Amino acid sequence: MMLSSEPTSSRAAMGLPVFKLQAGHTARLSIQSVGPLFMATHWVGRQIPCAGPECPGCDLSPSRARGFAIALVEQGQAWRPVLVEASSAEWSRLEGFRVMEGVSFAPGMLVEASRRRSNSPLRMEPISNGGQVDEQFTSPWRLTSALAVLFQLTPPKPGATVGQFCAAARPVVLHQLRQAIDRAR
Ligand SMILES: [Zn+2]
Repeated sequence: MMLSSEPTSSRAAMGLPVFKLQAGHTARLSIQSVGPLFMATHWVGRQIPCAGPECPGCDLSPSRARGFAIALVEQGQAWRPVLVEASSAEWSRLEGFRVMEGVSFAPGMLVEASRRRSNSPLRMEPISNGGQVDEQFTSPWRLTSALAVLFQLTPPKPGATVGQFCAAARPVVLHQLRQAIDRAR
């Protein structure tokens, strides 16, 4: 399976830095995605998506569910786009608080992110709706494009659904998993 023939520059342009938060710090995030996109991943020296049926990674260890969303992080007067990665447990926790507080999961949902210790999970608490929204970051296609760069997968075709993206990415994921498993032996 060939990887994308797109020039490297345009591929890289869709990439977003993964949001990192130092222990003891908090940050305000304005969520841009209409919802988190969940992916099962394996840790084989690095994080690689699960290939689904007949996945060689699943023969070694169970996958873990990670949820990704695009957000703008507040930095002084500026809001910078980032890819937020958290466990599915943390996204469900946010969902519970969000419902209790009457905040909708929609572009512009403001959350406070915190991390207590360096090995603590990222915590997200809803604040309100009405945060900054940059339209270019709200579509599911923009999110899968950023994930394609993060995981070195085939970029989604314009307008491709998440399902189409995952189906196209599967051969690349299988190749990555086999290579990483061979290397780990
Ligand atoms: Zn797997």
